[in-house]
Amino acid sequence: MSATDATRWFFTRAARRMDLAERIQTLLLTPSRTVKVEVAIELDNGELGNFTGYRCQHANDRGPYKGGLRYHPQVDEDHAEALASLMTWKTAVVDVPFGGAKGGINCDPRTMSQKELERVTRRFVQQIHDIIGPQVDIPAPDMGTNATVMAWIMSEYSKFHGFSPAVVTGKPLDLHGSAGREEATGRGVMYATEELLRRQGRQLAGLRFAIQGFGNVGSHAARLLAEQGARIVAVSDIGGAVRNPEGLDIPRLLEHVARTRSVAGFEGGEPMPADELLVSECDVLIPAALGGVITRENAQHIRAGLVVEAANAPTTPEADEILEKRGIVVLPDIYANAGGVTVSYFEWVQNLQNFRWELDDINDKLRGRMAAAFETIYGLATRKKISLREAAYIVAIGRVGRATLYMMGM
Ligand code: NAD
Repeated sequence: MSATDATRWFFTRAARRMDLAERIQTLLLTPSRTVKVEVAIELDNGELGNFTGYRCQHANDRGPYKGGLRYHPQVDEDHAEALASLMTWKTAVVDVPFGGAKGGINCDPRTMSQKELERVTRRFVQQIHDIIGPQVDIPAPDMGTNATVMAWIMSEYSKFHGFSPAVVTGKPLDLHGSAGREEATGRGVMYATEELLRRQGRQLAGLRFAIQGFGNVGSHAARLLAEQGARIVAVSDIGGAVRNPEGLDIPRLLEHVARTRSVAGFEGGEPMPADELLVSECDVLIPAALGGVITRENAQHIRAGLVVEAANAPTTPEADEILEKRGIVVLPDIYANAGGVTVSYFEWVQNLQNFRWELDDINDKLRGRMAAAFETIYGLATRKKISLREAAYIVAIGRVGRATLYMMGM
């Protein structure tokens, strides 16, 4: 099943439960537009590098299009469209005034120099600058991109349109970024987990976590969870995996990764096959890397009682059904990883006001938004006896659908 088909499947299940007419379903599912551009640059060795860039703008009735930029060899039109629609539902679940978009370039940043990455980014902005903007479409970091890439985007866009910090979020603190943005997705993952545990009469301290992916989202989630007394018993990244049933020393692991660029070879644990991470012994499983990793094949063997989707679209529809039947609770991506877009919203507001908020204020506001969204979807899921994912989709589709019909004058 393609990424687009998988996200459609979750949408359609919720839309049918809402008795939404087929034509409204088509209206809400169809992206406004997808732009595909040639991103050709001169490589450091003097040769030509050909890449393709994408920007899918899915919906903007609740506010400007909003969503990350991914630099990864697998980026294509299908991924951009699937992830853009997820952004539409996500911004609605946490009720920030944005629509949904996503994009990226099919390059492998691990094999490129900083100068090549900068050239690719600036070339991409030259190709799409007339379809993004502070009130139009606001990119942000995703896999393979970071604050530096966002700084290049702001810089290149401002050459065309004048000083425009609000055109992109996730910027460095020294260039109109927001306090708390870098760790916001990981922090939101922690707040989301805490909300659920509280309802179950449990707490983070002592629980065992396994985390797939140790980039921006996975590493901050691990650090923040460990600070609350959780035990991070296994972690993986593209280079390998490491486990320690007593709990990995996360500050030391972060130093190791800063030095070696991978969790592999960390001396504070034992190596394990990376593909065993998802089925390893733990209480909470956090996929925080690629999509489509929890499948029909491995869902049977997952040992965690709770899956927190820090990554976008990590669970296929078939796997989701298996997890539900097995009684494994899933905190869905469109809620669990919404901390990033929430603090991106705070960054955008600060940029528009030319005013800085304090970190404590930002974290309090983030916690408040994650708690309010949880209350809404948990209440609906309990009343209707449906999964948290279906409840989150119902809340989101309702909000987006009503806005869309108002905008159409219907
Ligand atoms: P990142 O590029 O900073 O890190 C990705 C991590 O995944 C790296 O540690 C990488 O080694 C690892 N990885 C890649 N392939 C892997 C594989 N096959 N097995 C195990 N690990 C693998 O990316 P990120 O920003 O942390 O994003 C991770 C996920 O979170 C993505 O699905 C992204 O869409 C989602 N997300 C990110 C944000 C954000 O603010 N950055 C917000 C919401 C959702």
